[in-house]
Amino acid sequence: MDLGIGGKRALVCASSKGLGLGCAEALAAAGVNLVMNARGADALEAEAARLRSEFSVDVQSVACDVTSEEGQAQVIAAAQGVDILVTNAGGPPPGLWSDWQREDFIKALDANMLTPIAFMKALLPGMMDKGWGRVVNITSQSVRAPIAVLGLSNAARTGLTGYVAGTSRQVAPHGVTINNLLPGIHATDRADSLDGGVAAQQGISVDEARAQREATIPTRRYGSRQEFGATCAFLCSQHAGFIVGQNILLDGGATNLTM
Ligand code: NAP
Repeated sequence: MDLGIGGKRALVCASSKGLGLGCAEALAAAGVNLVMNARGADALEAEAARLRSEFSVDVQSVACDVTSEEGQAQVIAAAQGVDILVTNAGGPPPGLWSDWQREDFIKALDANMLTPIAFMKALLPGMMDKGWGRVVNITSQSVRAPIAVLGLSNAARTGLTGYVAGTSRQVAPHGVTINNLLPGIHATDRADSLDGGVAAQQGISVDEARAQREATIPTRRYGSRQEFGATCAFLCSQHAGFIVGQNILLDGGATNLTM
């Protein structure tokens, strides 16, 4: 399917690995020029170079922490005039509800709620002026059903979801859509590190921890970054202009819901 977005320009935050990289790859494959970001410059530049040569698109890389004010200023300066915004950042650490302090919540809110909001506030006006734009926020299945050990994620991402629900309806008259993609378990470094935590806690191997978790997913496997990226690219496409303010769960059926 031709996504109809060749020649457009996208900012994909936190995109040297994992789900962000999946989105960057799928957009590049659709002919979209990119601004990519991550903290580690080496992995970021390696992936930027690969996408440039594989898909013949322009790729600019901005190495910085997207959750810091300085990092946001750097990325926003490089991304002026983009048509597509994909927000993403690392997820908060696991823990117990009674252990988190105010500072832990502030950090999680900064990374997983206020950072995407800052990017939307900075880049939506340009899209609205042009009468076309797409925003996809990478959140989590924890927005639909809480994950006990990820209480910081449950809290911060739900706040972002409320902001998107209201804002998406206000920018839609200008041809701009905002939607959220809710990953369940995907095979990325983040999933490896969560499996590592379970393995250490239960005295089992990482492979055993993964097998246990795969057994809880109706598809009996983790998702891939390519599947995730393809869905993101579709939401950014010309075909998705009537999808507004939605929360799309990509979890292999793991969240047991009727709707
Ligand atoms: P990942 O494989 O660990 O990749 C994270 C990417 O983001 C890397 O490129 C990393 O590069 C970059 N990054 C992290 N923190 C950053 C920051 N502060 N500023 C700029 N770049 C940053 O993680 P993932 O699995 O793709 O997860 C992406 C998001 O989806 C996370 O918020 C995660 O909690 C959420 N999620 C993931 C899953 C899953 O199963 N994978 C499920 C639900 C939710 P650097 O380290 O070099 O900065």
